[in-house]
Amino acid sequence: MSTSELEHVEAFAALVEALELRYFSAVELMFIGHSHGNVDHPAYGLNPLGPGKLWDNIRPAAKVADCLREASGGLLTILSANRSPAYNRAIGGASKSEHMSFSALDLRSDTWSAAKCFDWRPWRLQNIPPH
Ligand SMILES: [Zn+2]
Repeated sequence: MSTSELEHVEAFAALVEALELRYFSAVELMFIGHSHGNVDHPAYGLNPLGPGKLWDNIRPAAKVADCLREASGGLLTILSANRSPAYNRAIGGASKSEHMSFSALDLRSDTWSAAKCFDWRPWRLQNIPPH
């Protein structure tokens, strides 16, 4: 990792630290997707850490995810976070996916069904579309 890449990662880590999340780390929130690292996938290498101008966009989703993790009482795994447009296309993401603006997180709960997460009230009060 180059010095500028390291500074980029450290700046993101500082932003996440300021959110005072209980459960999620910067490393989890900058998850770039399994296909990015899969040499056999058409999306291989297409999802570098997104530009800093988008980072603020993840704040609401990160806060809600942290609260959902608390409420569900179990592991909550980030399956998808930021996506470059090229990466989003290669994995068949929606053409206007909010992942491209780093404002959406795909999550999997080990304790709650997808339907229960979807119906979880604070999610709706924050007016953040489940993804
Ligand atoms: Zn999504």
